[in-house]
Amino acid sequence: MKNMLFPLLLLIICFAACKKSADVPAGDPQTEYDNAKKVLAYIHDLGFPSDKIVENANEFIVEEDIIFPKNMEVPAEKVRPEQYYTGSLVSAGNVTNIRLMVDASMTSMLSEINSAIAQWNAVANCSINWTIVTSGTYDVLIINSNLGSGVCGQGTFPSGGRAGNTIRINKAQIAGNSFAQRARTICHEMGHNVSFRHTNWASIGESSATAVPGVGGTDASSIMNGGQCGSGATVLSTKDKQAASALYP
Ligand SMILES: [Zn+2]
Repeated sequence: MKNMLFPLLLLIICFAACKKSADVPAGDPQTEYDNAKKVLAYIHDLGFPSDKIVENANEFIVEEDIIFPKNMEVPAEKVRPEQYYTGSLVSAGNVTNIRLMVDASMTSMLSEINSAIAQWNAVANCSINWTIVTSGTYDVLIINSNLGSGVCGQGTFPSGGRAGNTIRINKAQIAGNSFAQRARTICHEMGHNVSFRHTNWASIGESSATAVPGVGGTDASSIMNGGQCGSGATVLSTKDKQAASALYP
């Protein structure tokens, strides 16, 4: 009896699921599930190894600090496999004014945030421009978050031509770092939000990455090296700037 009931239950569940998928409105759990599967396939396509991907309720976290929301728009064009990026860029219209909302939980690090913004905005021949907004519409929210021991922050990759919408900073984790290192963490996460990956991707186990045309290779001075919280470069390297200028002229 038990043996017969179980396949029957499966059949009923399958039937319900199949029927539902025939015409699913946006926001439907099935649509969300299907999109999440596409996002996961996109992450694999980008060359991130499975053991570096952690699934949460609403997002995939890669290499501890890169957020892929499950509802993000996956680029239609296949990513072709140097500084390295995701193949999904912020649009030319949006990148010139990335509005950063500083959550109340982060106002104590406003000086560090401004320092990080100044670095990105100062890159020559580059259209990336961050501005802080205190009310109204914003593109990116920076917020304090307990990310657990050892994780300093998390940035979000761009989606649909918009900068990734969230930066999480583990204030308790970086509080003991120098000002320059605290600003580095913020500057690094901001890089993820405009599509930068980890420059040292190969040494941290990734199989492939999309090179920024004309840049690429390893760069010990890159602020986008991963796993260097509290010890990494504190200013954008020459190659970081070249990459930013190449992606966003
Ligand atoms: Zn990172």
